[in-house]
Amino acid sequence: MAAAAVSPGALRRLVAAARAARAHAHAPYSRFRVGAAVLAGKKAHAGCNVENASYGLTTCAERNAIAAAVLAGARRVDAVAVASGTDDPTPPCGACLQVLAEFGGPDLPVVLAGARGEVVRTLGELMPHGFGKAFLGKGRRG
Ligand SMILES: [Zn+2]
Repeated sequence: MAAAAVSPGALRRLVAAARAARAHAHAPYSRFRVGAAVLAGKKAHAGCNVENASYGLTTCAERNAIAAAVLAGARRVDAVAVASGTDDPTPPCGACLQVLAEFGGPDLPVVLAGARGEVVRTLGELMPHGFGKAFLGKGRRG
């Protein structure tokens, strides 16, 4: 299982990077500050949510972290951490799960770090029947 491929220490550092990124969130409207970090190889790439007065233009921390990883040349991520300030750890939204699925398989570990603790899920647990590139080009009827 891919979760075992990432050491507990690497996951701890990833959570720390996500928590640090959360401090930079631009969330003046919702006050819902989120930080995320993705591990690609040995490097962590962080992002925070960035809200906009035109609410629909808001981007989530997870997608911004993925964008940072892609900018650095990554095309696959090994683990994800999402840090929120809620008592119960907050999972990624559906849009972010879809973006994570572009760069990781169902065994991708996703650490959800809330104010009171952390839980580790896999992408497959969070998005069990998602759409992906495997559906493109096979079995199409038009
Ligand atoms: Zn999201």
